[in-house]
Amino acid sequence: MTKGAAVRQRHRVAVLGATGAVGQTFVRLLANHPWFELAEVAASERSAGKAYGEAARWLGTEPLPACVAEMTVLPCDPGRVTADIVFSALDSGAAQDAEPAFARAGKTVLTNAKNYRMPPDVPLVIAEVNPSHLDVLDAQRKNRGWTGAIVANGNCSAIVSTLPLAPIHQQFGINKVFVMTMQAISGAGYPGVPALDILGNVIPYIGDEEPKIESEIQKFLGTSNGSAISSATFPVSAHANRVPVENGHTVCLSIALEQKASADDVARAIADWRGAECLGELPSAPERPLVLTMVPDQPQPRRQVGTGGGMSIVVGRVRPDPILDVKLVAMGDNIMRGAAGASVLNAELMVHRGLIGGT
Ligand code: NAP
Repeated sequence: MTKGAAVRQRHRVAVLGATGAVGQTFVRLLANHPWFELAEVAASERSAGKAYGEAARWLGTEPLPACVAEMTVLPCDPGRVTADIVFSALDSGAAQDAEPAFARAGKTVLTNAKNYRMPPDVPLVIAEVNPSHLDVLDAQRKNRGWTGAIVANGNCSAIVSTLPLAPIHQQFGINKVFVMTMQAISGAGYPGVPALDILGNVIPYIGDEEPKIESEIQKFLGTSNGSAISSATFPVSAHANRVPVENGHTVCLSIALEQKASADDVARAIADWRGAECLGELPSAPERPLVLTMVPDQPQPRRQVGTGGGMSIVVGRVRPDPILDVKLVAMGDNIMRGAAGASVLNAELMVHRGLIGGT
């Protein structure tokens, strides 16, 4: 049986912010998805009414599928978008009002924007790490009077950091984390950082990024009591940097552990980890969410960003840390694993669990 064969009905979905960098990746992933049918694309008033092929400056290396190029871009209005499953790649300014409006109108919104990641009744989910946090959705609907829901995807560097931290926290407990990021230009959307600022340069500041990385790692690794999520309490300190890399965020992590463990124990925990059960059924789940490399000068974004179809995090240089306990380097595709691919995987998980799509 091929992946996804158990789910026969294809669910109609829409993409909000479909013309941007993340939105285009959604379009690419959904144009030929076995469980989802890309029915509608929406963006700002600047794009609404135009053919998608005209409104979007297509960034993909593969040609834009003809059937999508001809779609008319809709405004981000829940009265105009008919699909019940909505992937949002909206800019945070637009997401603030639009995403709750869609949830109020009965739609399940899988968002990539920062606005609704932190409330305790909004699941902030990495499918392999904390799928049980989806159990707060009933409480969310009750608290907010919505018939739909918002399910959030994390900040791209928080996702790349959390995946290797998850097996370490599960096996040894985490006491504190120091994380330093080297973030690709594509993380800033299109057209992103001006070439004259970033070529041959490092920018040691990304607005609002460090608090998001710190608090989201804690929430991902926190616990749900069925109606609210409590963040983990270990402290996280983040330094965020923009570097002249096109795609792929690299993070250097130093970790203090609750229980004593050697760097070899930690490397083994990472190598053996497959994440939550049942994900093998899901079309976007990589065979291995974490790929451990022993090559001393890896991971590198140019060489390994496409690992596992862009859905695996490559982890290397696991070694003792003379200040904390252990340190390592992790790298992942910020747009696939850190945004669109992760949202599609979350939606597949929800369909698989009968939380959307009525299967
Ligand atoms: P982007 O390239 O700037 O795209 C923004 C999208 O939002 C475009 O489709 C744009 O439509 C639409 N939009 C802007 N203002 C709007 C308005 N007032 N009403 C309706 N639509 C509006 O940004 P991006 O990098 O794709 O990021 C999208 C979201 O994902 C952001 O919230 C970002 O923080 C988050 N995110 C990005 C990454 C990444 O690696 N890039 C990773 C994780 C999360 P028009 O083309 O019509 O203007």
